[in-house]
Amino acid sequence: MLPGSDGVITVSQDSIGFMCCSLIVSDSVADPALRICLSRMSLPVRKAISEIVGYTPGEQPQDTDCTKLNTNENPYPPSPMVVEAIREAATGSLNVYPDALATGFRRAAADVFRLDPNCFLAANGSDENLTIIVRTACDAGQLIAYPYPSYVLYETLAEIQDCPVERIPVDASFAWSDEVAESIRRRARLVFVSNPNSPTGNRWTPDELARLVPEDGLLVLDEAYGDFPDQPHRGELLHDSRFVGRLVITRTLSKSYSLAGLRFGFSIAQPELTAEMRKSKDSYNCDTIAIAAATAAIQDQNWMLANRSKIVATRMRLAARLPDFGFNVYPSEANFVWTQHASGRHESIYRRLKEKRILVRYMKFPGAGPDGGMFDGIRITVGADDQIDRLLDELNFAVSGVS
Ligand code: PMP
Repeated sequence: MLPGSDGVITVSQDSIGFMCCSLIVSDSVADPALRICLSRMSLPVRKAISEIVGYTPGEQPQDTDCTKLNTNENPYPPSPMVVEAIREAATGSLNVYPDALATGFRRAAADVFRLDPNCFLAANGSDENLTIIVRTACDAGQLIAYPYPSYVLYETLAEIQDCPVERIPVDASFAWSDEVAESIRRRARLVFVSNPNSPTGNRWTPDELARLVPEDGLLVLDEAYGDFPDQPHRGELLHDSRFVGRLVITRTLSKSYSLAGLRFGFSIAQPELTAEMRKSKDSYNCDTIAIAAATAAIQDQNWMLANRSKIVATRMRLAARLPDFGFNVYPSEANFVWTQHASGRHESIYRRLKEKRILVRYMKFPGAGPDGGMFDGIRITVGADDQIDRLLDELNFAVSGVS
């Protein structure tokens, strides 16, 4: 496919696949006329995709000397049983496909949660489960709602599926009004609730959640941080008459089980609903090594709970110290704290910490602040004690000169 003398390329329908490739390499095309021409071509991409920015994950710096407190990873290593299971799986049958249903993992999870293994669907991280749920439940045009501020990915998933999004406003104590809840309940196909919520760390009660269960849809309880509260849910809401047949819970091994690098999550729902969700997953969505590691991880509850206790103790220590530097700390039931500084200069504080090679997450949510203004702040992952000591050592520097 070459341009004519006027620099214009004529493209037939058949050459669209080729055109995509050409556009990807267009930066390396030497001829300026051809480059301009390529840059003006419209890509064969759905409008819903070309019009969105897409989700931007937290920074993953490649150097190792940085104190990384920005993406809610667990500072402690996974269970030694996980390492052993990975070794065994790696020397086993990698030449054959994995178990498409992750049967061993589902049985182990069913023991922990005291539920039927058919309630569980394994996925490549809970982000994949969230995608599967949207694909399974929502036709284009059906409403997806979520309390705001929360996990930004919910909006991206809705946009990809061509679904409108409604942000559920919450007050200073994170409560939604009866009137709004009732309206959402009647109109929404899916309601996502991160519980505990990210970035604010608060946790809504079952009574509050029940008010958001859609009449003709699903409540998705995203419990990515669900092992950190003092009294975690163990799937009991599935038997609560207010939620029956209308609830999917998602869990991840990225946080409490220290396996963010592995990619493994699972959902819990009625077996009939899980069977429908299974139809919209990739055939082999979890690999043999991940299934083996996740099975060993969930079987070693003592390891996970010991790390969880250390993180909770460090979180309390961090929360107690932050006010000394002018920060207001929101009560957290997760492995991070959400904080706002008296100066309001959160982005500057984030940058000054970054200068010192300490990475926290600066986040802003337009429209979520008082009177519909900006709501912004800093989310700090609870790292190991020495990481939090490093942060505390640099906070004077970070906040000095910004007020
Ligand atoms: N839900 C929430 C609220 C999260 O913060 C995250 C982590 N970014 C996820 C889901 C995704 O978890 P996973 O690593 O299992 O995809």
